[in-house]
Amino acid sequence: MSRASFFKTFLLTELLQGMALTFRTLFRPKVTLNYPEEKAPQSVRFRGLHALRRYPNGEERCIACKLCEATCPALAITIESDVADDGTRRTTRYDIDLFKCIYCGFCEEACPVDAIVETRIHEYHMEHRGENIMTKDKLLAVGDRYEAMINADKSADARYR
Ligand code: SF4
Ligand code: SF4
Repeated sequence: MSRASFFKTFLLTELLQGMALTFRTLFRPKVTLNYPEEKAPQSVRFRGLHALRRYPNGEERCIACKLCEATCPALAITIESDVADDGTRRTTRYDIDLFKCIYCGFCEEACPVDAIVETRIHEYHMEHRGENIMTKDKLLAVGDRYEAMINADKSADARYR
């Protein structure tokens, strides 16, 4: 052990330096948040829980083109389709496996009619087996419930493009 190192250890200078740093930090503004009471700011482009949207007249936007299914790198989307009574092509099954999804947003980018979107909702959980599958009904329900927020986020995002 060198002499300098010996005195450093003997006089506890490193300990005192550490305590001085702690003392200085005590009076600085806090950078931590008391989540969930306090929330961090979120981008309008945040990619959270998926939703399927409708037009204002209630018609489903999705036209079952399957572009989202084809582009999904995680193979998380499963779509089956058929011709509806009015002659339009509609999905009979639209599932997203949230355990497979990597929240890349490619499905949203690929959709030509803004039907599938990722909302800013990230506080959700599953308690039972199978709840990781977001079925068409569940996705439409999320879309119906949060359409105002989705619409506002899309408008705000368009302003930044
Ligand atoms: S966010 Fe990405 S991984 Fe998830 S369903 Fe969409 S395309 Fe697939
Ligand atoms: S959500 Fe969009 S991309 Fe996917 S099948 Fe429907 S219309 Fe096509």
